[in-house]
Amino acid sequence: MPPRARPLPNPFYPEPRSPVVSDGAKRGPVVLTGALLVTQDARRRVVRGDLRFEGGRFTHVGPDAPRMGAEVVDATAFAAVPGFVNTHGHVAMSLLRGIADERDLSGFLETLFAVDARRVEKDVEVGAAAGIAEMLLGGTTSFLDLYYHEDAVARAVDRLGIRGFLGWAVLDPERTTQKGRPLDNARAFIGRWKDHPRVTPLAAPQGVYVCSKETWLGARALAEETRTLCHFHLSETRREVHEHEAKTGRRPVIWLDEIGFLGPRMIGAHGVWLTRREIEILGTRGVGVAHCPSSNLKLAVGGVCPVVELQGAGVRVGLGTDSVASNNSLSMLREMHVAGLLQKHHRWDPGALPATTLLDMATIEGAHLLGRAQDLGSLEVGKRADFSLFRLDHPTLVPARPEAIVSHLAYSAEEGAIDSVYVDGECVVRGRTLTRASWEEIRRDAEREADPLWKARPPGATTPETEPAR
Ligand SMILES: [Zn+2]
Repeated sequence: MPPRARPLPNPFYPEPRSPVVSDGAKRGPVVLTGALLVTQDARRRVVRGDLRFEGGRFTHVGPDAPRMGAEVVDATAFAAVPGFVNTHGHVAMSLLRGIADERDLSGFLETLFAVDARRVEKDVEVGAAAGIAEMLLGGTTSFLDLYYHEDAVARAVDRLGIRGFLGWAVLDPERTTQKGRPLDNARAFIGRWKDHPRVTPLAAPQGVYVCSKETWLGARALAEETRTLCHFHLSETRREVHEHEAKTGRRPVIWLDEIGFLGPRMIGAHGVWLTRREIEILGTRGVGVAHCPSSNLKLAVGGVCPVVELQGAGVRVGLGTDSVASNNSLSMLREMHVAGLLQKHHRWDPGALPATTLLDMATIEGAHLLGRAQDLGSLEVGKRADFSLFRLDHPTLVPARPEAIVSHLAYSAEEGAIDSVYVDGECVVRGRTLTRASWEEIRRDAEREADPLWKARPPGATTPETEPAR
């Protein structure tokens, strides 16, 4: 018998070091002691201290937590960081990573629409599970999604333990492959999931290119009636802005404001092509923006989201990865890095979007966008215990000094540094392993379900548009 191949040793992790919380104490009370706490509280304190949580919430953040009745675990080798909030994506598209590279938005959508038409609940659920696994392993504990078959996404959220803000895609009835009217489907979806502890359902108009005035206002009325958020694509490409202007005589933000759509609890993704007037309107109306720099750069949308001006006008700006078909990663660490570099380079200003602002955008600002800053986005007493433990001995976090940790998170940290992830005080990733599901099973399902979708690519879809014509 030939000798069996032995796996290569991992150079970074000679032995597992997770602060193991026993299963019986899943929801606390638990005290993690001596961690480097990146609190993201009002004073943005970074301190050595303890985290006590029970019933899904923090009851102590800082030195000398009471230990009575708690399972006490040493966490001195770790930094505790609030769970990342990914404010824009299409998680079920995880089966389509790499399917439409090297194309602009219209070429990209041409491929995606052809494949999307074939999707069913089964492959949406499998794709969502793969994407959620990637997000959890990357320290993301909340995400905002825009897609259809969202019941399948909600089931994956329920199973894997993440927090999902799930927007049912709404567009004009004559433009959709959905059965029935998209607005009615969104309403029914909200009704089915509104009481789930970790699923927040909402309606999500796709964009001005597929939504009429009636559709926009219908989505707004539904959001008002059900007191839910509203999420949509906004001014991502110059072409979409120009075509809308040619059709209506107005730029998208001006038009959306004139028809009476814009208001608080609304989150527009991208916001690349905005004028000063439009930025002012977004600020006045209380609309939030999900900045998706990797997707914008990869699809070559040409412009740069005016993050600094938006923030100056009082607009909340979060970070979004968009889908893996256009990013091609769901890493919020990577997104912080790219967002920072892009603004600095574009504005000739190394001080633009400093590390502290980038981490804010990935955590507390994202929580504000979702209208949940009262219980998400920072390590504070009373908030939900959503956080990650980063190994301070990981090469990308050295030197692990308190005054440098925020810089490391924004500019150098890699997913491999994330050891454990907690949502609602429950450990959903331990020692870089999902606790609620088997990655091997998720991966096998994903490979199987991806196969027919990839075979449905339209002819020529793999040919880069940049290839010279023959
Ligand atoms: Zn998108």
